[in-house]
Amino acid sequence: MDVSDDLRRIQTILNKIHKNVLEEKWPCMCHDCHDTAVDCHLLMRNGILNFVTENGRLVALRAKKPAAFKQEELPFSFKLVGNREAVSLPIFCNTHDTSLFKEIEDGSFDFQNIRHLLLYSYRTLCSEIRRKEIIVEQLKRELNSNILSELLPIEIIYAKKISIAGLLKGIEDMNYYRNQMETNLQTLSDDFVFLSKPLPLKGIYVSSVSTLFYDEQDSLSEKELNIFIFHLIPQNNYTQLVLGYHKKHVNDRIKKYIKRWESASSKEYGYMLTGLLSQLESWGMRPSIFKQIPKARINKFYAVIASNFNTIRQYPDESLDLFDGIINT
Ligand SMILES: [Zn+2]
Repeated sequence: MDVSDDLRRIQTILNKIHKNVLEEKWPCMCHDCHDTAVDCHLLMRNGILNFVTENGRLVALRAKKPAAFKQEELPFSFKLVGNREAVSLPIFCNTHDTSLFKEIEDGSFDFQNIRHLLLYSYRTLCSEIRRKEIIVEQLKRELNSNILSELLPIEIIYAKKISIAGLLKGIEDMNYYRNQMETNLQTLSDDFVFLSKPLPLKGIYVSSVSTLFYDEQDSLSEKELNIFIFHLIPQNNYTQLVLGYHKKHVNDRIKKYIKRWESASSKEYGYMLTGLLSQLESWGMRPSIFKQIPKARINKFYAVIASNFNTIRQYPDESLDLFDGIINT
């Protein structure tokens, strides 16, 4: 059998596993609930999605299907996706998806209310944990496949094992913060700090809880990684910027960075945003905004992502303004 036959076999198995994992039933993430999670829309209930979709679609960075050998290629690209695919994951059962977020869903989301900002971030954090769990499941099944373990080169199998270990550590860290958020929501303590301000921007949403600003030196400590909360919440004629962190788990890089947003001018927004977005997956934009970005600029953006991909250090690269002249209102 020649190499191309092997490649085809590998690809077929990867696709099959991918399909099966997507069809998997996941449990509701609410403690002590044994119901099956339904597809939860992260933005639709808040009506936020209306400001970034056109004909029910938006443009988002999406992972390409798992490929057999194209490891050197960037595994992401911009795609036109339906809003269901764009921002929904099986996180909570129907009952909990409604009851947990009632306060911010009935049209009274107050951007200066810390509890509201925390609830909004809590849902994002849970989605981030679930997203990681789904990838772990995919990778585990790949490693369990006898045919794949025969056909895949040893270094790819090794890379998958490393990925699983990294994701599991990530899930552990995220669960720590999930606990912290739940405690804060119950006791009204104030461990989380937010900057929340309106920006004269349009057509982009971001909903992320990440470990951005991580540095090699952080891995020397046994502590949880610092989390960085970042949301862009589009409204009718402005966009609310929300940045946040945990008071007891923060480094100077995060604090300084948030200070910069406090005093940034509208000319800097595009560069600062592009830097963040090159490091995050959970964001999207109106298709008409995407259409206005010159092709060469999009390719530059891919190059920025590629140059930071696979580096441990996670800093925003602010060398490009993807949205120059496009998103300011
Ligand atoms: Zn439930």
